[in-house]
Formats: sequence, C-alpha cells, structure tokens
Amino acid sequence: MERLRQRLQQIDGRGYKAYKQLQGNYDFGPFQLSIDHVQGDPFALPSRISIQIGLQQHGLPKTFWQNRIRQTALEDILGRMLAEAIKKHVKGRRGTGRSGEISIATSGQQVLRRNAVLVTDQQIEARLLFALPGSGRSILVDEATQMFFSELPKIIADGLQWQKRELQLLQRHIEQAEDQQMLRELLPTANAIAFVANGAILPRRSGIDDRPLKAGVPFHSPPSLEQRFELPNQGSVTGMAVPRGVTLIVGGGFHGKSTLLQALERGIYNHIPDDGRELVATLPEAVKIRAEDHRAVNGVNISPFIGTLPGNRTTDCFSTDNASGSTSQAANIIEALECGCNCLLIDEDTSATNFMIRDERMQQLVPDAQEPITPLLHRVRELYEKEGVSTVIVTGGSGDYLAVADTVIMLDNYRVFDVSDKAKQIAGPAPTATEKKPLRPQQRRRIDLQTGPLRGQRETKILVRELRQIEYGHIRIDLSKVEQLVDAGQTESIGRLLAYCHQQEPEQKDGLLQTLRQALAQVDQQGLDLLLPWKAGHLAMPRLYELAAAANRLRISCKTH
Ligand code: ADP
Ligand code: MG
Repeated sequence: MERLRQRLQQIDGRGYKAYKQLQGNYDFGPFQLSIDHVQGDPFALPSRISIQIGLQQHGLPKTFWQNRIRQTALEDILGRMLAEAIKKHVKGRRGTGRSGEISIATSGQQVLRRNAVLVTDQQIEARLLFALPGSGRSILVDEATQMFFSELPKIIADGLQWQKRELQLLQRHIEQAEDQQMLRELLPTANAIAFVANGAILPRRSGIDDRPLKAGVPFHSPPSLEQRFELPNQGSVTGMAVPRGVTLIVGGGFHGKSTLLQALERGIYNHIPDDGRELVATLPEAVKIRAEDHRAVNGVNISPFIGTLPGNRTTDCFSTDNASGSTSQAANIIEALECGCNCLLIDEDTSATNFMIRDERMQQLVPDAQEPITPLLHRVRELYEKEGVSTVIVTGGSGDYLAVADTVIMLDNYRVFDVSDKAKQIAGPAPTATEKKPLRPQQRRRIDLQTGPLRGQRETKILVRELRQIEYGHIRIDLSKVEQLVDAGQTESIGRLLAYCHQQEPEQKDGLLQTLRQALAQVDQQGLDLLLPWKAGHLAMPRLYELAAAANRLRISCKTH
C-alpha cells in the first residue's frame, strides 16, 4: 500500500502514460489490490483492477458456495453489494473523459453466472473498472490518491466485509436461487413445462424497466391447474403448472396475456428476491419464437414449414440476407429444434399471421398447391405428439388453435381461468397437414465463423455496443429480436465464444452446433475466463440457444466486401 502511495507521488505532474508504472500487486491489509491493466488515456476503456480477500479474512461459511448454483448466487449478491457500495462512496467523475469512475458489472433482475466476482475455496476475487483520473493528458495524483486510499477501502469494507444482518441477506439470496433451480428441475416430475407460483408479480414497471410493477395484481392459479412442489429451503410452494402439450393463452386485449408469456420466457433464469418472478420457472430448453423480418438465414432446412418458393427456389438449404416474416419464423423454429428446444413460446403479437394460420376461406381462394407455407396450426400437434415439443401460444384473435390445444388458459382482468373444457366444445375438428417433411430435419450445417479486422485496424475486435448488438470484426450481428438474451455480458461472451470456436475448431467436423455446444461446455466447466487472454470482469454466461442464434444470424455476404 505504501509502495503504491510512493509510486503515485513519483509520477505526480507527469503525462498520463506514466500511470502504466502502477501495474502490479499491493497489500492493503484486509485485502490485496492488483492493478491488472492501465488505460492509455482518460477517454479509453477504464483500467482494470481486482481485489482479493482470503478465506481467513472474509470468513463466510463454506455452505454458501458448496454447489454451482449457490456459488453463482453468492457471486451475484457480492457483486450487487459492491455496486451498492460504489454508488455510496465514489465521488463520481473528476477530470476528463471517464476519469474517476469506478464500476463493477452486475446483472439486472436475473441471477447470472458472471466473472465480476469469483468465489473459490481459497479466496474471493472482485474485478472492477477503475478510471484513473487525468486532466487532458496529465495525471491527477490527488484524485487518484483519494480513489485508492479513501474510496476503495470503504467500498471493500461495505461490499465484502459483512455484519450479521448482511449474512442473512446473503443466505436468503442463495437459498432462493437454489429453490428456483430445484423448481425448474422438478417440472418434468409433474409433466409440466412451466410453473407460476401463487402470489407472483408478473408485470414490469415499463418496457425498459424490468423491476416489478408496484400495483401489480398477484398471480393466482385456477384450481384445476394447481400443483404443489417441495423446495429445499422455503418448503412447499403452490401455483399453476402448465402441462406439456399445446397450451393457449387467450383473453381480451390488455388483460395480461403477453405479460404471462414474458414471465415464462424469463422463467429459464433465476430471479433475485422481491423480483416477483422468483417462483416462476420454465424448462431450460424453452425458446421464444417470433417473426423477425430482415434477419439473415444461413443454410437452414425450412421445408417442414415453407415449401418451394416462386422461381423454383427450394427451401431445404435456405439462405437469405433478408428473410420475410414467415420464413424468419420458420427458421427460428427449425434452429431452436436443432438446439434441442423442447418448448416453443409464441405470441401472436410478434408472429407472422400467414405462418400461424390459414383459414378455410383462404384455402378455397388460394389452393394449397399455390401456397408454400404450411402454417404452424397444421403441425403443432404433430410437433408435440411425434417430437415431444410443447408449445405455448398467446392468441386473442383466432379461434383456429382451439382445435389443437390441450389446455386453454384465459386471462380476464389479470385473473387466470382454465377454460379448456369449454374450448373443446367450441372447437371444430383439428386441421392436419398435407406437408409430411420431418419436423426435425437432419442436417449438419457449418457456418464460417472467421472474421477479419476492420479496415485500418490491426486486430479483430469484438465489441458490444448495445445489449443485443455484436460487432464481430467487420460483421455486425443483430440479436435485437433474440428476446431471451438479457444481459450485455452474455452478448460479450457470445462474441468471444464464436471467435473461440473458430480458433479451436474452424473445420466444425461434427457440424456447427456440436462445435458451439462443446465450447459452451468447456466454458461451463472452466469458467468464463477461458474466453479472454487477460483478466476482466464483464462476461456473463449465455445459453446454447442464444449462442447459436448469433452464429445463425451472421451475414455471410458481408464478408465479400
Ligand atoms: P395483452 O397481451 O393481453 O394485450 P399485456 O400482457 O400486454 O396484455 O398487458 C397489458 C397491460 O397490463 C400492461 O401494461 C401490463 O403491464 C399490465 N398488466 C399485466 N398483468 C398485470 C397484472 N397482473 N397486474 C397489473 N397490471 C398488469
Ligand atoms: Mg399482447
């Protein structure tokens, strides 16, 4: 610590680059500080530091990280406590550019595995961004001294050295995450694809604020769908179990249909205490499917849904840089199935109508032979009965799906009713498909994951500018419609994973998907640090589906210019 003080004095008044001399390790007594990377100027990405605290010093009980889910939850809450402490103690910007900022990457309402805080049997490590202060090109020593010797110790004291009350907070966080995980694992035992606990708060404050709506009407299950699960920490929980099969969510406009579906989409993740959705769980292989016009498609066999297109264009290896609503939705389904998806989540609000239905009058006017599209309506039962893939569909406008549904849930003023029996009386005969192409076409696709540097740059950069946009070298990957991607850290990891796959297995001997799957398994086993040659803390774990979604949306044609 004294050594750092001295070094700071020595570089007083010098140019910003002299900060480089600070790189190294320092003993701060209660914790170790490591200055891992020093930025080149005050406008660059902030410097990276890490803090280590030994087991002796933090004294947390080992039960807090005894399995993966507990460890992830503990790392998550420690990151949040550090972020809280930073907000409290850091004076904020001082100097030019981002000078004086301190930050740590944390998740929103979800509990994601990240690399900002890492707990091992030996120590806790926290990785922070630390924008070394400068005024133009010169060093601001007094400000830096304040950051290192006044603010940092306070942040660590608040964030990583706890009182009894905070231990209880940590414990609650960990136990809730473990319960959610268990709930998700128990779903198959009840033949369910999803569960929503009584009392859950599903609506969010707004489209850009994922916190619970304060006046939200609590969820309550209809008696016929009610199930009870025993959880390891909180004991028994009661709520609605959505059975396997084809489920419709119906009801008038603005009665909460999409809100329920969105909760199911996010049910693949664990949520923080008081989120309102902490006892909503969905099978981990559930995928939101929507239309996505203009997306790129790379060699996907969409023939189960889209037959030969005008101009005799076959669709068993369909590529385009600009898909239509129906072809994009078909590709989204086929790609999801390729990844092992066992549950499709669909909202008519974001679907292509001609992909969802074709009614009798239209069939009379436009004969089947002229229509390349086999609507999902005609194959959704087969999808379940032959492939074991369940579907949940929100529909307010068309009754056609009543004929193919096992369960019909009605929302009325945010209250939920099971109207399956009544729906069966109303529904006519179930339509069947004339199209018989297998729904899980066997195909081993390869996608060239190579990317080159941007003109004028030496190395290939992978950058995430928005939550769902990757700049992969000179190719931009648009994930804006991949709705179950929830964190920019996941997007970062996806970009790195694509590059890692290209480096490790450019040939993709067993196909793209197997390559992606293996890379993800390696990261899962060895940790996110595998993806970066230097120490950083901004990565979060994605699912296979979102990773594949990025590869599937690569615009191959970009590569020619
Ligand atoms: P639908 O899809 O049926 O048209 P939405 O799910 O979009 O309806 O919900 C309409 C509005 O009602 C949204 O603003 C949503 O936040 C709100 N809302 C949904 N569920 C609840 C609830 N349980 N309590 C209070 N407001 C809700
Ligand atoms: Mg809606």
